[in-house]
Amino acid sequence: MTAFFSDFATWLLPLSCALCGDAVTRGRVHLCDACRATLPRNANQCPCCAVPTPQSELCGACLKKPPAFDATFCAYQYAFPLNRLIQNFKYGKKLALTHTLSALLIDGIHQEAVKTCDAVMAMPLAPARQIERGFNQSHEIAKNTARVLGLPYRHRALMRIKDAPKQATLTLQERKKNVRDAFLCRKPIPNEHILLIDDVMTTGATAHAAATALRKAGAARVTVAVIARTI
Ligand SMILES: [Zn+2]
Ligand SMILES: [Zn+2]
Repeated sequence: MTAFFSDFATWLLPLSCALCGDAVTRGRVHLCDACRATLPRNANQCPCCAVPTPQSELCGACLKKPPAFDATFCAYQYAFPLNRLIQNFKYGKKLALTHTLSALLIDGIHQEAVKTCDAVMAMPLAPARQIERGFNQSHEIAKNTARVLGLPYRHRALMRIKDAPKQATLTLQERKKNVRDAFLCRKPIPNEHILLIDDVMTTGATAHAAATALRKAGAARVTVAVIARTI
């Protein structure tokens, strides 16, 4: 189903909770209040990379070698049952979950930061991966999030120019090497504050590489927002 028809269908069909099946009456979010309250929160976290820290202080890794991005917003941990929702969206092509996942991503975003953002960008997929999957999950979420936040969305400004093997099987060092120089920002963005959106942050290596490309294009600040962080 195309994004358009999926979007259209969400207006026609009665909504039900994607987790328990109960009817949902409010908005376009496929989650009832009870299920939403059970999602695994990422409470105290490093303000830079969102990894849990006891008192929301900077983590050791960010202190030692700060990444190219300045901050990460992330309200949830990548754990059951949120991981199921994200997998259904990504691999099951459940595009009707776009609004739901976008709402969960926005749960983590500090409103004061939105005021200084110039534009939203999505983490690009390698062209081969996008053809295989049929869509880029980050693009769908970023487009919706930009609309809700009232920020411009820069589609296709950030490109993935190097294809890469699947990150999941690699060590942190291998991931870093793998994504180095993988991104290119095709237009100058002098002094801009970019809100870079992805679905899940695992090690932060991909976000670092993408933020490096944005900085090379002139970005003054890069804030990453993800739905969930692997712990
Ligand atoms: Zn429910
Ligand atoms: Zn950190």
